[in-house]
Amino acid sequence: MELIKKRSEIIRNGNDKGSFVAYWTSNTLRVNNNYSLKIASEIALDKNLPLKIFFYHNESHYKCIDRHTMVLLNGLIELVDELNHFGHELEFINCINDIEKLNLIECHTIIIDKTYTKRSFDYTLEILRNYNANIVSIDNLYLPANLISNKQEYSAATFRRKYYKVTNSLIDLTFDISRELTQVKQIKSSENTKEKILKRLASLKDEFIETVNLDKNGAYASKENLNIFLNENLTNYEENSSKPEFEYVSKLSKDLHYGFISPAYIIKKLILRKLDFSSSFVEQLLIRRELAFNYTLNNKNYNNINGLPDWALKTLNEHAKDEREYAYSLSDLENAQTHDEYWNAAQNEMLRSGYMHGYMRMYWGKKILEWSNNFKDAHNITLKLNNKYQLDGRSPSGYVGISWCYGLHDRGWKEREIFGKVRYMNMNGLDRKFDMARYVDRVRNL
Ligand SMILES: Cc1cc2nc3c(=O)[nH]c(=O)nc-3n(C[C@H](O)[C@H](O)[C@H](O)COP(=O)(O)OP(=O)(O)OC[C@H]3O[C@@H](n4cnc5c(N)ncnc54)[C@H](O)[C@@H]3O)c2cc1C
Repeated sequence: MELIKKRSEIIRNGNDKGSFVAYWTSNTLRVNNNYSLKIASEIALDKNLPLKIFFYHNESHYKCIDRHTMVLLNGLIELVDELNHFGHELEFINCINDIEKLNLIECHTIIIDKTYTKRSFDYTLEILRNYNANIVSIDNLYLPANLISNKQEYSAATFRRKYYKVTNSLIDLTFDISRELTQVKQIKSSENTKEKILKRLASLKDEFIETVNLDKNGAYASKENLNIFLNENLTNYEENSSKPEFEYVSKLSKDLHYGFISPAYIIKKLILRKLDFSSSFVEQLLIRRELAFNYTLNNKNYNNINGLPDWALKTLNEHAKDEREYAYSLSDLENAQTHDEYWNAAQNEMLRSGYMHGYMRMYWGKKILEWSNNFKDAHNITLKLNNKYQLDGRSPSGYVGISWCYGLHDRGWKEREIFGKVRYMNMNGLDRKFDMARYVDRVRNL
């Protein structure tokens, strides 16, 4: 119960009038283990009001390309089916002017999924500006961000220490909301949501992706992805997940990003397999991932170099005028036209599958820094490419992953050209550790 209270944040007190409760689902596109839906249903039951569930996403504001929208909409179709199963409908709004159709002027309380970036938060509030409803935001991380820390944490080590103070053993935080959902009265959608989504889907096409089933996304598909990982790759994760020639990774980042699956559900499955905090998969899923949310929540410059720690900015500035052996344009990079076969393979992996192996992401980001005329442009270009092509892009882990290449959450290393004291990576390191020919081949066959 305490954990539920800590997840709610009153964003604005309204006039406490209104004839329904609304849940605006955005980054938690599932029924199970959805705290926002649970709290929305409980408030509706408590006030004896019906519940309206809606989805609105402005594709151009968030610079979605078709691949993102395809994943999102296919996930929404699963959500519609799941909600229907409990007697509820989803109102799907894909044009800002249609917000009026929701009649939010009559709404008592609007529950929103917590947004962890200033840009999303400001945009959400801007849309809700004209309505007098109470606005409550709900945190759906495994542990609510403000329970761990209310300031930007310096590193994974400081964050981990605080995390362990809240819990250092994995707890099953999953829950079932079928009772609340079946009891609460619903408000029917004004249109045939599925038809509307399918119509939008029919107009989409991704110019690169042929190999991945972009239509297999959503709560059900993400559980299948998890099962494949648990049964086939988990035992290899500890030792081999960093090797890009293999795929001993979960590839769950996209499912987590859209909220098709909850970290709590994954943890429940890991508890059954007797995993604990010492497992490197748990470290990635809880510590690394939630540290990224801590950063974007507490640093308004999460998407640019001004968010970097002082030491990193200082050292990069000191080396800003160092000569660059290579300087590639955005178009060279985007089209994987560099002298470096490994880098090109990583870029192609992302273009063709919407995913890049985690180790290659570090190398890929570091090289853009090395090959750009200045580090500010390099940071922008990396973000642009990452957010455009990764299916898990436009997320806190993306902003943090990129800024990590520039020193965030890291320490100083031996000083060298261009990078200053920021950690450097090179091709020899890849050759020493991995079978890179096999990686290049794997990508060629995508
Ligand atoms: C330059 C760069 C860009 C990145 N861009 C993104 C991005 O756009 N979106 C994104 O989700 N992650 C990003 N990452 C972080 C990380 O590389 C990916 O989360 C991970 O590779 C996703 O693959 P997976 O699901 O197979 O991970 P797994 O190894 O199976 O890990 C399980 C889960 O833990 C989380 N996780 C793993 N590593 C990290 C990490 N370093 N930081 C934060 N969370 C992590 C992810 O949610 C992941 O799904 C980036 C890292 C770098 C260096």
